[in-house]
Amino acid sequence: MANTLEKIISLSKRRGFIFPSSDIYGGIGGFYDFGPLGVEMKNNIKRIWWKNVVQQRKEVVGLDSSIIMNSKIWEASGHTQHFTDPLCECKKCHKRFRADHLVEKLKTPGKLDEHGTFNQEELKDIAKVIPKIKCPECGGELTPPRQFNLMFKTFIGPVEEETAKTYLRPETAQGIFVNYKNILDTQRVKVPFGIAQVGKAFRNEITPGNFIFRTREFEQMELEYFVKPGEDEKSFDYWVKERMRWYIEDLAITEEKLRIRPHRKDELAHYAKSCVDIEYKFPFGWSEIEGIANRTDFDLKQHQENSGVDLRYFDEPSAGRKQYYIPYVIEPSCGVERIMFALLCDAYQEIKGGRTETTKAAKEVEILLKLDKKLAPIKVAVLPLVKNKPELVKKAKEVFELLKPYFMCQYDEVGSIGRRYRRQDETGTVFCLTLDFESLEQNDLTIRYRDTMKQERVKIKDLIKVLKEKLEN
Ligand code: ATP
Repeated sequence: MANTLEKIISLSKRRGFIFPSSDIYGGIGGFYDFGPLGVEMKNNIKRIWWKNVVQQRKEVVGLDSSIIMNSKIWEASGHTQHFTDPLCECKKCHKRFRADHLVEKLKTPGKLDEHGTFNQEELKDIAKVIPKIKCPECGGELTPPRQFNLMFKTFIGPVEEETAKTYLRPETAQGIFVNYKNILDTQRVKVPFGIAQVGKAFRNEITPGNFIFRTREFEQMELEYFVKPGEDEKSFDYWVKERMRWYIEDLAITEEKLRIRPHRKDELAHYAKSCVDIEYKFPFGWSEIEGIANRTDFDLKQHQENSGVDLRYFDEPSAGRKQYYIPYVIEPSCGVERIMFALLCDAYQEIKGGRTETTKAAKEVEILLKLDKKLAPIKVAVLPLVKNKPELVKKAKEVFELLKPYFMCQYDEVGSIGRRYRRQDETGTVFCLTLDFESLEQNDLTIRYRDTMKQERVKIKDLIKVLKEKLEN
């Protein structure tokens, strides 16, 4: 397991998907940079989400709100008070832990026996359990848990005073709630309707880790779907099903590696009536990639009360009577990086002994990143068979120029053709186009399919049409 994870981390760095942030200065915990292939893949994920959630639905509109907002928003939403995790520290090695994660770990089979004394009921009270367990790193004594607020503070303007204090947003959702009235007033939307947003969020996580699974800066894709009170449960069920479908059909993630996990009452966020997580089976275990919550009318009510602005919705009169209400909100919320991580894990394959002649001869392990074509960072690689034949190189470069406006392409002439196929397979490139000596006479080239290695010849004049068809279907 650890092995697979290490291999994926190594591939991500080696091939320019993901780098640790601030690397030349020794790094910075919980932050990552996305390289040339990583940024393509993230953009593809965001585009597919936007297409499904916004573009294809007449009742959902998009938004891009600011990251830094008036701090009153975070008071009203409850984040300054409740957006906390329980933190404890080892008195000996001074490592910090999320107390709830330590207690959660005791629930895994076998673990409880080591610590003896707890039953399931006792485990619910974190404050009582922590003093009885030891630091998992050094066996030292742990401090009692205290609530640690996850929001990053900052100041607006030149003076660092209390009145200038605000926060980097820990979720994009509040930007949507405070624009709800702007959308109602300017767009022709009627309940039920949705507002969607993709953007950065920041959380000062106590224990970032598992590569890009838990970071301190990440991107969220959130939809706030406003419904009539009483219709919330039906809509919640719809979104849970729809989001699962999206992962299986639109992202082509292995169905058996996805599951739905409803939250227990004691896990619910301060604003939620119910919540389920969509989990993926990572090499380190089942973990959340998306949360779907019924946020009720909590946020809009809070903002109405705190801003003094009327946020009621005026619905069509029913039985001759005017209807005003604050809509309920269903929220599917997911992280771009966690999805990218799940996709990399899902696509990563090793072929022992190799598939190509070169790898077979060297008895090497060949890596194949079997990403769906919509997600692959590079769609097409253009490869002249050899680089010491000027007419061939010239023609290959012309093909690259021809395709560039239409597809994300790479041109590569370095190394044997087998090595170049391998490099492209490792990063999930969908098609390799090889120009050989025949190409000079026939004005054609070979299309090689990544997964089957099947090859077929295509005339250069038909290339754009053929590739478009193959990539779109
Ligand atoms: P966790 O329990 O893992 O801390 P959460 O339940 O607090 O996560 P939500 O508030 O539901 O997370 O956030 C919605 C989504 O945002 C998550 O499903 C995840 O994909 C993403 N996300 C949340 N926190 C992080 C993080 N620290 N790093 C990367 N992605 C995150």
